[in-house]
Amino acid sequence: MSIQEYRGVWVLAEHREGELRRVTFELLGKGRELADALGVALAAILLGSGVGEMSRKLIAYGADKVFLADHPELEHYRTDTYARVVAKEVLDRKPEIFIVGATYLGRDLAPRVAQRLNTGLTADCTGLDIDREQRLLVQTRPAFGGNLIATIVTPEHRPQIATVRPRVMKPLAPDPAREGEVIAIPVRLEDKDLRVRVLARVKEARDSVNLEEAELIVAGGSGVGAPERFKVLEDLARELGAELGASRDVVDAGWISSTHQVGQTGKTVSPKLYLACGISGAVQHVAGIRGSEVIVAINSNPEAAIFQVAHYAVVGDLHQIVPALTEKLRQARSHG
Ligand SMILES: Cc1cc2nc3c(=O)[nH]c(=O)nc-3n(C[C@H](O)[C@H](O)[C@H](O)COP(=O)(O)OP(=O)(O)OC[C@H]3O[C@@H](n4cnc5c(N)ncnc54)[C@H](O)[C@@H]3O)c2cc1C
Repeated sequence: MSIQEYRGVWVLAEHREGELRRVTFELLGKGRELADALGVALAAILLGSGVGEMSRKLIAYGADKVFLADHPELEHYRTDTYARVVAKEVLDRKPEIFIVGATYLGRDLAPRVAQRLNTGLTADCTGLDIDREQRLLVQTRPAFGGNLIATIVTPEHRPQIATVRPRVMKPLAPDPAREGEVIAIPVRLEDKDLRVRVLARVKEARDSVNLEEAELIVAGGSGVGAPERFKVLEDLARELGAELGASRDVVDAGWISSTHQVGQTGKTVSPKLYLACGISGAVQHVAGIRGSEVIVAINSNPEAAIFQVAHYAVVGDLHQIVPALTEKLRQARSHG
């Protein structure tokens, strides 16, 4: 079959604990733009058990169609089972583009689907566009710790699959009056597709660190001085309702758990505000924070590299500045 026969843009609808995840709306926003540029329909593929109600929301956020695979065996994400269902539908219906969130689930699923379909995958994209002349998806992603921006295309295989970093694309305003079509996918699973059984789900405390979706992050590095001195940052984070981030050096030193690590080998974040305290600004750290709307850095060294990427630079001792800031916020709160 020729690649010209592939038509349409698909997004994977991801949900957790009964709620669609924000990244799904972001993908729909970008997917709408891509589909309009190509003059094709935008579809979401939704897998789960008892999740049909979510279809309406997907349509409100821009989908023309929802392919719904509703089956008790799809209640919990399982790599093999989900990859099989998704790959089969993609193969049968032949969208030209399939975009997936670069979340834990998406990063696990998308490569498997790409491998089953013998097509390319561009991971961790921060930009997607259409080359109208060649009808190609132009995929942009940072490479080499953010020092290089790579533009990648998949000219010879379909679909063109990309994972997209959360919080990079913008969701559309939902329109509850929007109309769309919900198409039920018949799910037939054999024993060989169900090799993994989910016996129980235990929520670890670390699940509560949600840096990728955080709007405010207070992050600390070696400049904090000692593990117990992180308390000043925790106090400020609590006052702001912010998540706590960290550089790799303090994670490696055992001052804080790795779930807080930001950077090339940690989380990629894109908050409205990233407050970097006692972080030097190594390229590997900066690679994870470039998507932040505003970066404020507090560092005692006026030459620190972090000031090259910070929108606001505060030169001084974080142990004086941070508690003073927390106190100001407390006062402001107590005065309403
Ligand atoms: C392959 C690879 C992957 C990596 N991945 C990551 C990653 O994902 N994330 C990451 O963060 N790093 C990563 N690193 C490590 C990175 O290169 C740096 O070593 C690390 O980011 C430095 O951490 P830091 O800024 O906390 O410490 P430092 O570089 O030691 O900086 C501490 C800063 O605190 C300032 N300071 C000291 N005292 C005070 C004070 N009282 N008040 C204010 N400021 C003060 C100092 O001026 C200094 O700028 C990686 C490295 C490699 C090789």
